[in-house]
Amino acid sequence: MKSVLTGDDSAVPYMEVPLSIPNICGNEWEYVRECLDTNWVSYVGSYVDKFEDIVGDYVGAKYAAATMSGTAALHTALLVAEVEPDDEVLVSALSFIAPANAIRYVGAYPVFIDSEDDYWQMDPKKVVDFLETKCRWSRGALYNKSSGRRIKAILPVHILGHPVDMSPILDIAKKYELVVIEDAAESLGAKYKGEHVGHLGDIGCFSFNGNKVITCGGGGMIVTDNEVWAHKAKHLTTQAKVDSLEYIHDDIGYNYRMTNIQAAIGVAQMEELDNFIKRKRQIAVAYTEGLSNLSDFVLMSESDSAFSTYWLYTIVLKQSKSKPNSRDLISLLQDRGIQSRPLWYPLHLQETYQDCEYYGIDCAHRLHALAVQLPSSSGITDQEIEHVVSSLQMLCGE
Ligand SMILES: *Cc1c(COP(=O)(O)O)cnc(C)c1O
Repeated sequence: MKSVLTGDDSAVPYMEVPLSIPNICGNEWEYVRECLDTNWVSYVGSYVDKFEDIVGDYVGAKYAAATMSGTAALHTALLVAEVEPDDEVLVSALSFIAPANAIRYVGAYPVFIDSEDDYWQMDPKKVVDFLETKCRWSRGALYNKSSGRRIKAILPVHILGHPVDMSPILDIAKKYELVVIEDAAESLGAKYKGEHVGHLGDIGCFSFNGNKVITCGGGGMIVTDNEVWAHKAKHLTTQAKVDSLEYIHDDIGYNYRMTNIQAAIGVAQMEELDNFIKRKRQIAVAYTEGLSNLSDFVLMSESDSAFSTYWLYTIVLKQSKSKPNSRDLISLLQDRGIQSRPLWYPLHLQETYQDCEYYGIDCAHRLHALAVQLPSSSGITDQEIEHVVSSLQMLCGE
């Protein structure tokens, strides 16, 4: 540990505390070595099958299909759910951009829905409101009254390790025969009313990107109870190949498969998942206790129906006039070796999506301006957490 001088000339400990990095601490080397030693390095192999079984069983889904990324999983899920060009899909406005892009990959259009105030997830009241007041049921489908397009699906994104309040969304989806595709990329292991996210709707997607709760280096997974969809997902991600000897393909497929090496890392990481989640929840308790006296912040919490994995612990400044403001705070933390980050730029404001419809947006703007995500790697030490807490106390205390 080295020291840097602060403005007031007192030495403060300097550490590099990253936001969220992989935690490689189990059987990863052993399983990867086995792939290399046996030459099973590419798109087929026992680890791919094993990883699919383990993740499927973990979330309680009948079928799972591994993909090269979470984004590929989302694209494939939209294809198998038969979301078609010119359909519309309701999606969270405050999210990483991948689900909106996946909606465009199939030629459909996103309709961006606001977040709710308490847990910052897609607001189910606004979903229901939009469908009940802005849409019309006609000829066996639901249509957006203003665009005339068919509403085909709802794509809630469980952000930051906390589930969306799904019951109202599942109810309205049933009423209007909409497909529910969950983006659970950030929330593997989180539960809603005792059920795993990703297995609450019709089809769910996970990511194993390097900053997620577990990683394969990169990778994704589709889970569903729908046998036809599961087979179709496997088929489309495998170049829609029907005869590998003669190279016969019956559809426009994709090379979206996961490699055996990625899956080997994934299997080892799944062995650690429950420990990682336990640690994430301890980190959340430590931050909540350490920061509870700071009146400037709203701290992250967990709804009564949720089991959160606290993927990234997030605090929200109470006012835009707070000093320091969120962006100043991020840079002051950086000066002390602490990496923090705002939430995503809301999707309806992104250049590509400025012409798309959005509904009820208010909370998402506020969260974008005022939220700060804190270091939350499962490998973070108690001392590093203490450094973050004492830095925030110094920067924002009375
Ligand atoms: C990470 C993430 C994705 C994309 O996953 P990749 O594996 O990086 O393609 C999708 N949606 C959300 C909400 C994410 O956080």
